[in-house]
Amino acid sequence: MATVDRTVHPSFTKSLFRGSIQSELVMPYPLMSESERAKVDAAVASARTFLADEYDPWKAEREGWVGDDTIRELGDRKLTGLFVDEQYGGLGLSQSGYCRVMEEFGRVDGTLSVVMGVHQSIGTKPLFLYGTDDQKARWLPDLASGRKLAAFVLTEPNAGSDAYNLETWAERQGDGSWLLNGEKRWIGNGDKDILTVFARSELGHVALIVEKGMEGLSTGPRFETLGLKANRLQRVHFNNVRVPAENLLGEPGDGFRIAMNTLNNGRMSMGTAITGGMKRFLELALEHTTKRQQFGRALIDFEMVQDKIAWMNTAIYGLESSSYLTTGLVDRGDADFSMESAMTKIEASDTGWFALNRAIQLHGGEAYMADHPLAKALRDFRIFPIFEGANDVMRAFVALNGVKALSEDLPDVANLKLSNPGRALGELGPYVAGRVNRRFRPEKLVGAHPSLAKQVDSVAEQTVRLRGAAEAALRRYGSKVQEKQLVQKRLADAASGIYSQVAVISRASAILARDGVTESRDEKIVAINFLKRSEREVARQFRSLEVNDDNHTGQIGTAVRNAGGYQFGM
Ligand SMILES: Cc1cc2nc3c(=O)[nH]c(=O)nc-3n(C[C@H](O)[C@H](O)[C@H](O)COP(=O)(O)OP(=O)(O)OC[C@H]3O[C@@H](n4cnc5c(N)ncnc54)[C@H](O)[C@@H]3O)c2cc1C
Repeated sequence: MATVDRTVHPSFTKSLFRGSIQSELVMPYPLMSESERAKVDAAVASARTFLADEYDPWKAEREGWVGDDTIRELGDRKLTGLFVDEQYGGLGLSQSGYCRVMEEFGRVDGTLSVVMGVHQSIGTKPLFLYGTDDQKARWLPDLASGRKLAAFVLTEPNAGSDAYNLETWAERQGDGSWLLNGEKRWIGNGDKDILTVFARSELGHVALIVEKGMEGLSTGPRFETLGLKANRLQRVHFNNVRVPAENLLGEPGDGFRIAMNTLNNGRMSMGTAITGGMKRFLELALEHTTKRQQFGRALIDFEMVQDKIAWMNTAIYGLESSSYLTTGLVDRGDADFSMESAMTKIEASDTGWFALNRAIQLHGGEAYMADHPLAKALRDFRIFPIFEGANDVMRAFVALNGVKALSEDLPDVANLKLSNPGRALGELGPYVAGRVNRRFRPEKLVGAHPSLAKQVDSVAEQTVRLRGAAEAALRRYGSKVQEKQLVQKRLADAASGIYSQVAVISRASAILARDGVTESRDEKIVAINFLKRSEREVARQFRSLEVNDDNHTGQIGTAVRNAGGYQFGM
């Protein structure tokens, strides 16, 4: 059995790649404590009341901004400082609590969820995670109260997914201050108040707090976007902006780590905001298909309609389970959750998009009308698989982290230098050869409800297969595995599926134990439905690692590229 480092920042998914299941990280399911639940319920109720009575997504869209009055009201309700400590005027919610409230925004308006996410998940978060006491005392009270809004300023015209290679430059001055020059684009809240700006310097990447009004800082013109029209997306220019020494977050050289860790954290609230959106899509689809009559009966009476409704319901259950398992990993405080956060982001944005597509299908032409909420959602939700880590980049990140972890268990495999797969899709070690260890014994999830024993066995088998497939990829391709993105994609999707299944088993076990088997019958059916579906999908990924047409796909890609488009005529 693999030796797994269970001491310092254990990663559940890294251990999956090693063929091991660290049950203690995922069992029992992290249900909220009574006191936390009371706080979260109050914040959820407050958000719901405001969203139902006072907020109009269409008005926000028409006006191109969610509205200063909205921000003021959310601030008064402390909903702009959800995770900020109470001493700085926030609500001090856990990651799970924070993400639960974000679900409410996503349910009503994708744009408002993004504005809140930009301000909190990625705007305020760097300060929250890396600020000194002085820095927190200086800025957090205004941010928590909504008097000021925060931005996360990373993307540049030549640095999108490849965020390591920034061009914005910070020159350290004799007095310790920084002279900042460069251009950023697509920055939410870029024209607002407190900007965490990422730049390179001779001392490595830096994260600097830039405040509105500093000399040499300018914004605009604003971008017109397909959706999220009430999110103010800006160009931000720095022309010899002098940033005081005390505005540096962390140490010189920490900037890239701060950016990546902030995104690891931020992706989770995107996941739950999408969960909120999916619940709304389901409600709309249900309402429409129940009312609408065709062929003499309600649409929902048709099996193919019911199938779509059931699919959406089960997909929400699965996503909710993995989202809150992941936030639970954050709340533990000792786990490395970067891979789980990436996988949840992929699952949320992909499944959210499918769910939306299905809800629209069920509405027929009605949802194609521009003033339908699903038509607006279609424009708003399309960005989720792209930003905060494009999904395919996240897949590569998950797979390469996984094979790196596994390589450490294989004595004949040189240590793979993949300390930062976000930037290092090119730093693998030498060629690896040898036989795959096929006689690996399954390790089971401990603590699951006995009525889920079959599913626990299946997860163990899938984990063994994951390890075998990852080891086979390492031995077959060696350092070239970094170029084998189709292998990476399948490994990442398989790992993601196994993680989701673990999340569902963990959650369902907690509910079955708490409420009893008879009382939880309906929930168990949904859980089993998810598990079966996911198991089939994981099997498909493993199969396609062995049986595929990648050679032809590669040849076709090259041919299309050489021909400059479609190659054939009739
Ligand atoms: C509405 C909106 C809001 C935004 N808000 C912010 C913000 O507040 N702050 C901020 O800093 N940025 C923000 N961004 C920028 C966003 O983070 C970037 O768009 C994102 O990082 C992707 O970069 P890119 O668009 O340059 O795409 P590229 O990096 O050019 O990638 C394009 C596509 O190529 C593929 N791809 C790229 N690299 C790889 C790879 N290694 N392997 C396989 N496929 C790959 C992926 O399919 C990807 O979707 C925002 C963008 C939008 C549209």
